[in-house]
Amino acid sequence: MENRSQGNFSIKRTVLIVDDEEINVEIMSSILENDFNVLKAYDGKEALDLLLKGEQKIDMVLLDVFMPMDGREVLKVRKENIDLRKIPFIVCTSDKNIEKECFHLGVNDFIKKPYENPDIIVARVKRMIELYEDRSILKEVERDKLTDLYNIEFFKKYGKQFDANFPDLAKDMLLISINRFRLIHELYGKEFADKILLAIADQLRACISHCNGLVGNDAGSTFLIYCEHHEDYEILPAKLNEAVKRAVNDINVSFRIAVYPNVDPALDKDIVLGRLRTTADDLPDDYTKTIAVYSHENQEKTLHREELVEGFPKALEEGQFQLYFQPKYYIQGDKPVFASAEVLIRWISPEFGLVSPGEFISLFEENGLIGKLDSYIFDKAAKYMADWKEKYGVYVPLSLNLSRVDIYRPNLAEEINGYVDSNGIPREKFLIEITESAFVEDAKEVIPVIDKIRSNGFRIEIDDFGSGYSSFGALADLPFDTLKIDMQFIRAMEKNPKVKDIIKMIIGLAKTLNTTTVAEGVETAEQYAFLKEHGCDIIQGYYLSKPLPLNDFEELIQKEMAQHGREEIL
Ligand code: C2E
Ligand code: CA
Ligand code: CA
Repeated sequence: MENRSQGNFSIKRTVLIVDDEEINVEIMSSILENDFNVLKAYDGKEALDLLLKGEQKIDMVLLDVFMPMDGREVLKVRKENIDLRKIPFIVCTSDKNIEKECFHLGVNDFIKKPYENPDIIVARVKRMIELYEDRSILKEVERDKLTDLYNIEFFKKYGKQFDANFPDLAKDMLLISINRFRLIHELYGKEFADKILLAIADQLRACISHCNGLVGNDAGSTFLIYCEHHEDYEILPAKLNEAVKRAVNDINVSFRIAVYPNVDPALDKDIVLGRLRTTADDLPDDYTKTIAVYSHENQEKTLHREELVEGFPKALEEGQFQLYFQPKYYIQGDKPVFASAEVLIRWISPEFGLVSPGEFISLFEENGLIGKLDSYIFDKAAKYMADWKEKYGVYVPLSLNLSRVDIYRPNLAEEINGYVDSNGIPREKFLIEITESAFVEDAKEVIPVIDKIRSNGFRIEIDDFGSGYSSFGALADLPFDTLKIDMQFIRAMEKNPKVKDIIKMIIGLAKTLNTTTVAEGVETAEQYAFLKEHGCDIIQGYYLSKPLPLNDFEELIQKEMAQHGREEIL
């Protein structure tokens, strides 16, 4: 192996001289040829051809400015190219004014024309090559091998230096990761995946080259930027995607981008990066949103979610979860008649106050806590029903919400039998609501389980019907007894007359299939009247009653019993 360790010039390095004036090339060549191999090019294009071909290792370029394809054009190409940036460039010029411009283009040094002291020129070229070779050793430590970007340690270190050098500049930090990169890697192989990483690295470097800043790479598929403040990050995903498409055809890559605007330089960089990671993690999994901006409020939200998860076991133990009951009424008679109630859970926390299910159900689904909660609710509901039977002599039918995550519990159907049977409740008084989208999206898993539960004697309601786009054909094969029209339709019907037609169609469909329709979220007399007119069987909503706490609901049962003298509620 060649020994190119620092300061060792026993092997001749190669210098490329670029100048359109032959005499200049010859003079420089005669100065250097004892100590270096000399290559010659007579304009920018020829030089680039030699450099980009990469057939011969070139250790240094001496570049004239004014020539066909200007030296500055060459420097611009170099700025965007990893391999060329590894070679030091010295500009040879007699024009002082050009120097500043060349510096911005990343040139390493200057030699004045006409060439004066040959020894000094030789020494300068040697020193610059040495410096670059030392730097390349350092670079191995501080940079990611593939992309040549700073690794995370040095990204943080140079980030601090950036703060020190530009104390008054407002700066942003960004974290950019590629969705499902592992999968891309597995599907298309390493070479393909590497091309994507390189394309992104180059694009980010190009973005940053217009301003102050640095780019880093963490663990391959995560990129980091620390740069002066910008407002226009929205264009970044499209730019990155274009770059990826240029590098590898026909693949759409999606990103997660977290932006931390106006970073406080006093804040530890690890803290900033940690916050960026949670901000990126909070982006929806369906890739509908690519960029999230860190904000203190979002951070508070994340913390609050963590607190809720941590607080769950104690809350369950202390009975902080309370069942509320929202009555449903038959509406086809003269007056609405009580039919059953949906159980809706409320978390009444001494710490956080009343927490609504919107805040914690999906969170608990993600964290696997929902199973415990739903089991608790099913058990409690069965016990209340037994209790009411004793107190009021009637079984009050209840609907319970089953999370799609519950479906994956191995003994779900037996468990449900257990809660109901052990309390002596007739199974048909227990209704199970499961959202339509679970039927559609996880059909293979959901249908057999629901089928089993239904054949055990429970009634099934398809919740939020219309939101899940199940095909009407498939509907005929689904195991269910009731369609519950999605609240969105009820809400939209006054604004959009077409929605009324959809509601009519759903009711008609349910009739064809011999099932009951429930409309929920009914808030106004107009909605009520419309639904009644078109044959909807049951209504649930604020118009008739809000979800009630236990005491109020028990009062309602008593009133119902007294008013209607009913012995049974179906
Ligand atoms: P959902 O099953 O669609 O429940 C209906 C939601 O609409 C309830 O919200 C209810 O309070 C609300 N609502 C009822 N009538 C009206 C009305 O007239 N207008 C408006 N604007 N809203 C009305 P809630 O109680 O906040 O529950 C939200 C969701 O949380 C439920 O949607 C359900 O998916 C879930 N959830 C609630 N309790 C449980 C539970 O015990 N287990 C599971 N797995 N999920 C539950
Ligand atoms: Ca429901
Ligand atoms: Ca619903």
